[in-house]
Amino acid sequence: MSFTSPHLAALVPYSPGEQPVIEGLVKLNTNENPYPPSPRVLAAIEGATRAGLQLYPDPESRVLRSVIARHHGVAPDQVFVGNGSDEVLALAFDAFFRHAGQPLLLPDVSYSFYQSVCRWLGVVVRQLPVDDGLRVDLAAFEATRGESVAGMVIANPNAPTGIALPLDALERLARIHPQRVLLVDEAYVDFGAESAAALVARHPNVLVVQTLSKSRALAGLRVGWAIGQAPLVDALTRVKNSFNAYPLDRLAQAGAIAALEDQAYFVRQRDAVVHCREGLLLQLEDLGFTVLPSQANFVFARHPAHDAAQLAAALRGRKVLVRHFAQPRIGQYLRISVGTPAQCEQLLQALAACLQG
Ligand SMILES: *Cc1c(COP(=O)(O)O)cnc(C)c1O
Repeated sequence: MSFTSPHLAALVPYSPGEQPVIEGLVKLNTNENPYPPSPRVLAAIEGATRAGLQLYPDPESRVLRSVIARHHGVAPDQVFVGNGSDEVLALAFDAFFRHAGQPLLLPDVSYSFYQSVCRWLGVVVRQLPVDDGLRVDLAAFEATRGESVAGMVIANPNAPTGIALPLDALERLARIHPQRVLLVDEAYVDFGAESAAALVARHPNVLVVQTLSKSRALAGLRVGWAIGQAPLVDALTRVKNSFNAYPLDRLAQAGAIAALEDQAYFVRQRDAVVHCREGLLLQLEDLGFTVLPSQANFVFARHPAHDAAQLAAALRGRKVLVRHFAQPRIGQYLRISVGTPAQCEQLLQALAACLQG
């Protein structure tokens, strides 16, 4: 006997990176920003605690959506917001990709949460292999032209490789199946890639998803959004209101607005991370690592003479957390989030010791 609905047996839940309870670890395993959010965010949240928590928040997050719309140069009715971009992704998969048995196209190396959502919603996945350099293979997607598919999802920059496609490649992807949605997950776009939001005006099938979690240092606030033409946003809103009409609380809406309004702070922190990434990449190469070109706030690296799982465990013994994925094709890589200069230095010293030991 079981209390669960029958479909639970088929679920393969996403496993997030470790959030350690031990103090003093150098945490480079979940691509959080190493810096705190803007002081204006904290002030806005404090203000919101004193103003009407007994009332429901605006279910449509109108002020926040207008701020996001201005940020992207689109109309407010082209913006959808959710409780972190993972929630926006799940609602979008439900709204756009459930086409009775037709497969959703994904690169075989990508953000594994997509597969978890597909299992949950009963969406069939067809994985298209990345090339030998772990780059998304445009030709493999082009080759599906004319087939019946549920849609396409691309993380750009891709996770966990950090490699980005240029805007013209995304536009080519949008044209392959114009009757289906191309979802571009831009969790890391601010660290060096071009946003597909520029395609939304002329491609009714493009949906772009972004988050405050990485480049705005607000993983703890849980705010993500989608940019797309109004019919796509209307569809997302229908699904949202069938599930949770108030996904963003008052504190999250206030903090998110303040984060987007403090552009100067954002640029300074973002530039610090990008600068540190470039130094880290060179120093890892000095230690003998092969490092993929990254447009994100992490690097993906492998050592020709050391097993990645063992290295990750040895680093943990030296109080440095990085992420290892025991998966086909990428099992010999480590994904290392870019920290502060001091954290990167601690990582490099620990790595040098591990490589000797
Ligand atoms: C971190 C991440 C997300 C999730 O972001 P949240 O807004 O914190 O839910 C989505 N997609 C990718 C590729 C990510 O790495």
